[in-house]
Amino acid sequence: MDTSVIPPTLASHLPTTLLIDGEWGASSTRTTFEVSNPATEESLFDVSDASPADGLRALDAAAGAAAQWRTTPPRVRSDVLREVFDVITVRAADIAALITAECGKPFAESQAEVAYGAEFIRWYSEQAVRSPGLVRTAPAGTGTQLVRSRPVGPALLITPWNFPLAMVTRKIAPALAAGCTVVIKPARLTPLTTLYVAEIVREALASRGLPAGVINVVPTSSSGAVTEPILADPRLRKLSFTGSTQVGQGLLRAAATGVLRTSMELGGNAPFLVFADADLDAAVSGAMTAKMRNSGQTCVAANRFLVEASVAEEFTERLRAAFDALVVGDGSVPDVTVGPLIEAAAVDKVDAAVQQAVDDGARVRIGGSAPSGTGHFYLPTVLSDVSPESVVVTEETFGPVAPVVTFGSEEEALQLANGTEYGLVAYAYTRDLGRAMRLTEEIEAGMIGINRGLVSDASAPFGGLKHSGLGREGGEAGIEEYLETVYVAM
Ligand code: NAP
Repeated sequence: MDTSVIPPTLASHLPTTLLIDGEWGASSTRTTFEVSNPATEESLFDVSDASPADGLRALDAAAGAAAQWRTTPPRVRSDVLREVFDVITVRAADIAALITAECGKPFAESQAEVAYGAEFIRWYSEQAVRSPGLVRTAPAGTGTQLVRSRPVGPALLITPWNFPLAMVTRKIAPALAAGCTVVIKPARLTPLTTLYVAEIVREALASRGLPAGVINVVPTSSSGAVTEPILADPRLRKLSFTGSTQVGQGLLRAAATGVLRTSMELGGNAPFLVFADADLDAAVSGAMTAKMRNSGQTCVAANRFLVEASVAEEFTERLRAAFDALVVGDGSVPDVTVGPLIEAAAVDKVDAAVQQAVDDGARVRIGGSAPSGTGHFYLPTVLSDVSPESVVVTEETFGPVAPVVTFGSEEEALQLANGTEYGLVAYAYTRDLGRAMRLTEEIEAGMIGINRGLVSDASAPFGGLKHSGLGREGGEAGIEEYLETVYVAM
């Protein structure tokens, strides 16, 4: 094992087992699975491998703590979250190193993820004391209407590997603020950051004598087998999932039996539109942000660059030059700006999409292959003359590949942008305010960046339309996902 990239103070305290009812312990089968560094392919830690029985024990704990947690004063729930925010902030550098080790992104990006992920905890520590409600006279004057909120109940939270901290805090912060207890099933490839943050939450609860079962974590290499019985158990009242559309569809079917409240943050296929009237410097800078974070492995990654024909060559050339300046390597090495992909299969998938685009007539302007050597790397790639039918355009690539497709009119740009079953985010660069406003009406996406390559903000509602999901995380909307509305007629 090579844990040298993880600060020794953290490595010696890092939990690698299951957290159930406030106790860290091995799985019932005593088995483990390996977590490795995608840049070096070295093993980092062996993590306890939860069984289906462990999953149900975690639900026992969450259900057992539910009554006490929902009646814990909102101010106390807020204080717990605020303490977690403070501790994460103090330990930000260590947590960032851990994210880089298990996920591969450059250290500066991991630091940005810590700041972003912690902000969900702070935002919902502030929202915890603002429970929504309403009292009004019925329109007919026949009585009083009282509308109040209650925590929905124990929640199963399933997270992906690409933001090991932020995807977890985006769920636990609103859940705990609302008064829900949780079972977390982190991603098999990156469970370490989740386990570390769970320990920070456990400590904040324990120091106040609050119920230990509020937060439970069951890392596993058999996700479906562990989550199936939890989803079938009537004590579970909520499922929040972030991951691929395909897995999300299966989980929605499973959640239907218990008529569970569900939040689904699914895949994307973001268009990045550049009109001839755009500030091209700003567009290229925004394109780098929208495309290259986590080597293109974000749900909000610009997947297709739709560029007005008259500026397409200039934009492509400037983008190529910006890609040329990137430094590919181990994210823990200073100056590296592009880390590895998460695993070997991801490299193969990205390369297959690129080669198919080339077969369809695309021109490789830079990159276009995986470098030889250790680590799951893929060279930052710009493709021009890409057919809109190529897989690199029609499917989520999840890699450092920028395919450029041209359009001739705003109408055609909209047709191309909306010609997908996904609808998570879209970006558009234009100096024409009227056009910008039309785009915000017409683009089928839950989030739209106008002259910006980054939309994520803990205080804003994050989520998609169409096959990109149901519900929102962040902002005022995020906590409502964990609340029931109860109407009383008096
Ligand atoms: P994934 O394969 O769907 O996995 C997501 C999570 O679901 C992981 O914890 C995974 O566990 C678990 N899982 C897989 N199969 C399952 C099953 N049958 N039952 C229960 N759980 C199961 O997605 P990913 O590769 O981790 O993440 C990439 C995808 O997530 C992309 O499509 C990306 O767009 C999307 N994403 C969306 C958002 C958003 O906010 N909309 C944010 C980030 C990522 P294992 O790790 O054991 O496979």
